[in-house]
Amino acid sequence: MTDTPELNDPAHQLVEAARQLFVAGVMSHSGHANLSVRLDGGRFLLSPGWVRDLRSEQLATLNLDGQVLDGELKSAGAEIIAMHSIVYRARPQVGAVIHTHSPAATAFAVAHRPLPCRTEPMLRFGQAEEVPVVPWGPRGSDVSVRGVAEVLERRPTTAAVLLANHGLLVFGADAQAAARLVMAIEESAEAEIAARALGGAVDFPDGALEAVRASMARVAS
Ligand SMILES: [Zn+2]
Repeated sequence: MTDTPELNDPAHQLVEAARQLFVAGVMSHSGHANLSVRLDGGRFLLSPGWVRDLRSEQLATLNLDGQVLDGELKSAGAEIIAMHSIVYRARPQVGAVIHTHSPAATAFAVAHRPLPCRTEPMLRFGQAEEVPVVPWGPRGSDVSVRGVAEVLERRPTTAAVLLANHGLLVFGADAQAAARLVMAIEESAEAEIAARALGGAVDFPDGALEAVRASMARVAS
């Protein structure tokens, strides 16, 4: 940890997380994504819908009802805002939310296939269970957002969901934790697809995921 004010600034952390996602090569060709970080007082910072070369002055401050309190939000519709705010409402400990169209993870979302947890990076970065699929809802409706809320309730420990026919939604304690999990999930989705040519990915040994989840629960409590 550092005391450098800029590094502790939520806007800086969000911009830096976006930059890291491009450096890691986990973004789709369009560079579409949106990232948010929670501020105090029931507010959060949200990026516009394209985040290549994102700058902190492009971020808007919103409340959990989705109202823009400060800044201007270009190319982020109501459903995008709600997709972020619903996670903050459902998970008080979440400090950052990232939505991407990371290609391999999106392949699972398009195929309506949950992404199993069968790689070490997924375990290490906090997803010791499969990434579930949220059913698709028409753009502009709140069906998709309600779907996210339902899956979060049903799966209280998942730190990510796949949005059917759309992409990936990941959340974490802060922007860096969420970005790392995006990378781990994309890497795992790639490995899962590549392993199919070799007979298919193999599960961890019986009890391994349960043991990791139990130790994570101990750390969190
Ligand atoms: Zn999207």
